[in-house]
Amino acid sequence: MIPGPVALSPAVLAAAAEPPVSHVSPVGIASFGDALRAMRRVWAVGDDHQPFLLAGSGTLAMESAASNTTEPGQRALVLVSGVFGDRMARILERRGVTVEKVTAPVGEPVSTAAAAEAMDRLRPHVVFVTHVDTSTGVRTDPGPIGAMARARGALLVVDGVCSVGGEAPPVADVVLTASQKALGAPPGLALLVASPAALQARLAQTSPPPLYVDWEEWLPIHRAYEEGRPSYFATPATSLVRAMATALGEIEDPAATVARHAAVAEGMRRAWSALGLRLVPTEVAHTASTLSALWLPEGTDASFVGRIGAQGVAVAGGLHSEIRARTFRVGHMGWVTTQPALLARTVRAVGVAMRESGLEVDVDAAVAALTEG
Ligand code: PMP
Repeated sequence: MIPGPVALSPAVLAAAAEPPVSHVSPVGIASFGDALRAMRRVWAVGDDHQPFLLAGSGTLAMESAASNTTEPGQRALVLVSGVFGDRMARILERRGVTVEKVTAPVGEPVSTAAAAEAMDRLRPHVVFVTHVDTSTGVRTDPGPIGAMARARGALLVVDGVCSVGGEAPPVADVVLTASQKALGAPPGLALLVASPAALQARLAQTSPPPLYVDWEEWLPIHRAYEEGRPSYFATPATSLVRAMATALGEIEDPAATVARHAAVAEGMRRAWSALGLRLVPTEVAHTASTLSALWLPEGTDASFVGRIGAQGVAVAGGLHSEIRARTFRVGHMGWVTTQPALLARTVRAVGVAMRESGLEVDVDAAVAALTEG
């Protein structure tokens, strides 16, 4: 129950366990093509958008998005709601981009007014935002930011590593993610979908990105796989691609999957509240559906996470430097959202750990609150 890598469905586990196939075999090509088509469905975009599926983690997807949409000397605005916005800024600085960050107080997204003010002052070529920051559990609504960026001729890139599959798909020029979170596959794949305007930005570049992350290198390969033809640029992670195709196939109705994540998150919030726990995000409206970032219970310290672990449930400690020692995080994304017994076991483990820490809590009531809206 950490916020990634997540627990996998039996079918995804089985797909990942099959012998590796060649990337130019019919089965290898078919699963790659299936995964790309399914990405458009989950991202809710049309055929004019190009999905990319690369071996690498979410950070590689960030690198690919940043270096294909920006050039040295250009200006970028990064809206920071946790540690991953800072990471994006570092990636952009290495690309030679002039970066301005607007950082929200911990537990909040950057306000629309602050984002607008920064856009007007900086006139950025590209705006970057983290949809759900995994270090704070804060969800930023990309809708108004995208509209403001478009009105000013800027592209919007969304880091959806902790959101894609579990939150409503953003309208943006690039939405990137990784395999090990809400999409429900093993770690090791970087996924991104580029709009026609983002693809055009890459074409207009005079300083191309590093070879491996260059969309222009991958475009003919991805097109070939989608058309069922063999092709090669760099060896795809074929076993992971098969697991990913299976995981994406399990998201039969993306809107229903997003709604299920929202319902589970609401149940988890009721359970935390019954235990007297407080969330790091300051308002429900900007609290993620995919994880809960929580303040540690009164009188406990970081060893509390180990007490939960002793109950057989793995949750994560704090990640954000300002609040690391005072918070813990529980993931509730992907396959586990279809497993009420696992969610109940998680709430029970947290409640028992609180009781063992000398706190008076009604664990049964908290478990009941999960399902009693
Ligand atoms: N962005 C966000 C929002 C993340 O949560 C993470 C990973 N937790 C990353 C980027 C980086 O992804 P990875 O660890 O797969 O490189």
